[in-house]
Amino acid sequence: MSGECHYCHGLVSGSERDHIILNQHGNHEVYLHEQCADGHNLIESVGSSSGDVEIVCPECGAVETQ
Ligand SMILES: [Zn+2]
Ligand SMILES: [Zn+2]
Repeated sequence: MSGECHYCHGLVSGSERDHIILNQHGNHEVYLHEQCADGHNLIESVGSSSGDVEIVCPECGAVETQ
């Protein structure tokens, strides 16, 4: 699964660790580079121990945990 980054339109691949695909909400998929999402303040750390992060969808504002 791969697509274009929402911001820089570079390739985002689901197999890359710092590439993000938001597809657990709504009826759309959003592709992001971690650095692009972080640059737009879309990423919030949930807990330091778990390593989970919350990512805000730039299209609709829904929050996904990854
Ligand atoms: Zn990007
Ligand atoms: Zn969305």
